[in-house]
Amino acid sequence: MAKIFCVANQKGGVGKTTTTVNLAAGLAKVGQRVLMIDLDPQGNATMGSGVDKRTLEMTVYDVLLESATVAEARVKSAKLVEAGCSYDVLGASRELAGAEVELVGLERREKRLKTALAAVEKDYDFILIDCPPSLSMLTLNGLCCAHGVIVPMQCEYFALEGLTDLVNTIKQVHANLNKDLAIIGLLRVMFDPRITLQQQVSEQLKTHFGDKVFNTVIPRNVRLAEAPSYGLPGVVFDPSSRGAQAFVTFAYEMVERIDKM
Ligand code: ADP
Ligand code: MG
Repeated sequence: MAKIFCVANQKGGVGKTTTTVNLAAGLAKVGQRVLMIDLDPQGNATMGSGVDKRTLEMTVYDVLLESATVAEARVKSAKLVEAGCSYDVLGASRELAGAEVELVGLERREKRLKTALAAVEKDYDFILIDCPPSLSMLTLNGLCCAHGVIVPMQCEYFALEGLTDLVNTIKQVHANLNKDLAIIGLLRVMFDPRITLQQQVSEQLKTHFGDKVFNTVIPRNVRLAEAPSYGLPGVVFDPSSRGAQAFVTFAYEMVERIDKM
């Protein structure tokens, strides 16, 4: 049975999508069967996995509204298959923005994704969900089906402030909707060790959250930022780059963690 993880942080631009696609590729590279779900109407994780959101016939939107199953809507990127580092993609496009409103008033509206995933859980070792930068109905659907939340964060002063809201939301979902949910870990991303403040915040994180902070640190690395314009995760675009190597290390760390879950 798949372990399901949301990559969430209600701030934008903190590295959620980069983490989702590169962890998916890293896990695929080390032999894991992976489904990546894009829950952000911007569709960046879809495009960054080499799937053109404009030509998709079915997306996660159809799954949420129960007009398609996951098995019908999932696709593979030809580029990733060619690179020998492939994972399945349940993509998103702009229409997903409408789902927020359309789900209001529907039954079990926060459990739609959970129900849909039950049919494909046996096909995967990992299901990774890229969440939008909000604590919306879409994010709630992700949190309701997950075993854990991966929180990417930059080691900056305000990062800690935003964390309180996210931790409270996760606690509420845990109490009311999904008792399996836990914060699996905080992932330090875009890290630059030359910046003293980043080192200080990194130390504070370890003091406050202990082993909830992943050992792996993702460096700031321009190859990770360049990769999406080629429709590839950094792990596939430039495997020898420091950023790619860090994500493969992170994939191994995740595999170890789920063995202990
Ligand atoms: P989010 O999904 O949280 O909005 P993204 O993953 O899209 O964040 O990242 C925001 C921007 O930062 C993107 O342009 C991305 O390419 C860049 N970026 C993310 N992680 C790194 C990194 N480790 N090094 C360099 N650039 C990064
Ligand atoms: Mg994103």
